[in-house]
Amino acid sequence: MTNGVEHCDSVNHARPITRPESANLTGSAPNHGHTWILYVSQTTAMAKFSKEERKARVKQWQDAERTELVASMPLSAQQLNSLLDYLDANLKSCDHTTKLTDIFLHVEKLDKDLVLPWLADHGGYCDCEVLCNLDDLANSFRQRPTPSKPKPKTKRAARDLTSVTGWNLNALPQPWRIANMHSADEPLKIQMGKKGGCTITLVESPMPPGDPMSDDYWSALWYARTELPMKWPIRITRAALDLPNNLQSTLVQSSGWIPVYCWIVPENQGWYLEIRTELNRQKGDLPQVADLVSQLQTYEA
Ligand SMILES: [Zn+2]
Repeated sequence: MTNGVEHCDSVNHARPITRPESANLTGSAPNHGHTWILYVSQTTAMAKFSKEERKARVKQWQDAERTELVASMPLSAQQLNSLLDYLDANLKSCDHTTKLTDIFLHVEKLDKDLVLPWLADHGGYCDCEVLCNLDDLANSFRQRPTPSKPKPKTKRAARDLTSVTGWNLNALPQPWRIANMHSADEPLKIQMGKKGGCTITLVESPMPPGDPMSDDYWSALWYARTELPMKWPIRITRAALDLPNNLQSTLVQSSGWIPVYCWIVPENQGWYLEIRTELNRQKGDLPQVADLVSQLQTYEA
């Protein structure tokens, strides 16, 4: 987003005063002295005016350009940042395609027919180019966040954190927080930090019907949640998490896709936890999930 600035600088409203080597302001050249002084005073006045005006106009242009840019973007600034983070974490060598970008767009349910041409317009013709050529643009959003619409100020009551689990969810240990404190109609979501790359949904109803002993049950569940096409083999790991004995965990993932799901189901009770994390962060997330759940379960007992 330096275009506005570069463009403005080249306009040069406050061009420095240039004068011939021999000229001086004391009027040693009688024939031209008068004209010269007039020229200087005009230029000085113009430069003063332009400096302030330029500042205002630069800002105006930048704002307009930015508004136009944001309006033309087929993905949000945050999604663009996530895409770059994703490529940064996953791109080992570029095969001159947008293979990884495609996967990201698919998972994020973004329209690839809109986003890919837009990325190409900004120099991102393949994964490595997206990563390096879109970085400046993404950075400009990081430095100056897109003004978001002010949130409606209607105060909604915070939800009651009492649940069938009997857990005390009012004081979650760091970095966990309730993600949907004000949406009492949704299942309660606990997320790690503010970005929410790992979330735990507490569903107060039994698991979907089926045979949890069969792998097909879990892979069908994973496909139902992710809505991804059946393309890569699904890996199912039972008892993947170190949990109290009455809780069973099943980890479901695929090496080709980002979403990783883990379900934690108690014995003979009508609730379960659905954990969503991502392929490249699950190793760090899952032990923390296990710690949290064990801790909550211990306090309850
Ligand atoms: Zn490349």
